[in-house]
Amino acid sequence: MALNSAYPLAHKTLEKQKTIVEVNGIKIGSEDLAIIAGPCAVESEEQLYEIGSFLANNGIKIMRGGAYKPRTSPYSFQGLMEDGLKLLKGVSQKYDMAIITEVLDLSLLDTVYPYTDILQIGARNMKNYHFLKELGKTDKPILLKRGMDATIEEWLLAAEYILMGGNEQVILCERGIRTFDHTTRNTMDIAAIPLVKQLSHLPIIADPSQATGNRDMVGPLSLAAIAAGADGLMIEVHNDPEKALSDGPQSLYFKQFSELLIKLKSFGELNGKIFPKFQLKTQIN
Ligand code: PEP
Ligand code: MN
Repeated sequence: MALNSAYPLAHKTLEKQKTIVEVNGIKIGSEDLAIIAGPCAVESEEQLYEIGSFLANNGIKIMRGGAYKPRTSPYSFQGLMEDGLKLLKGVSQKYDMAIITEVLDLSLLDTVYPYTDILQIGARNMKNYHFLKELGKTDKPILLKRGMDATIEEWLLAAEYILMGGNEQVILCERGIRTFDHTTRNTMDIAAIPLVKQLSHLPIIADPSQATGNRDMVGPLSLAAIAAGADGLMIEVHNDPEKALSDGPQSLYFKQFSELLIKLKSFGELNGKIFPKFQLKTQIN
């Protein structure tokens, strides 16, 4: 424990240099590059199975998909809720992929818990301290997104709330912060990655999809995040982005996602991360 730190449990110390969170054979925080991919939201059985089959064919081991969506407008698609959770479970079993899905608030924790392998805590909830304390009592990995207005210290203090409860499996996720420039949806804070690596033993991944809001920037920023030291990526992919009910403009086409994987694979190794696990079976035409 770093005794004179504001966040002694999250702080890196001589004794505690790194935390590795293992999910479906992927050791997040080790030399494995964790790639989490899937749609922003679960929309239908057909959509989820088509995406699931594509991802599994490409060697992806952790699939994302929101069943409860935190939408800015109450008139936007809110998610399929429990039906969405059931579809995620089905895909997970059929294709041997772990699932990550968002828990919107404490009242939904018991509902979501049995269906997911990683509990995603969204940017809008990073400062929901009572919720964070309760998450500390659970035994599943937690993906803690950075709040869109959160400083690095506030983010690590949020992680501290979870760690204090005894849950040590916390993964941080940089997903862009809100700045004066609205050309991109958010501003991807690449500097946060090496900074967090210096300060904390916790693994950190990047979400270039929420960070940019633009599918054409997802590939370049994925590479930038790995170069900066990220332990993994969370990427939105859709079988038909034009018709997506949530975050279509930032969702990759299958072809784009395959091309990104091929690029990553061609490096073989990048900044200490190795890519041996991908078996690219999808033809690119
Ligand atoms: C998401 O991953 O779809 C999402 C809503 O993320 P964030 O909490 O980072 O906005
Ligand atoms: Mn999204």
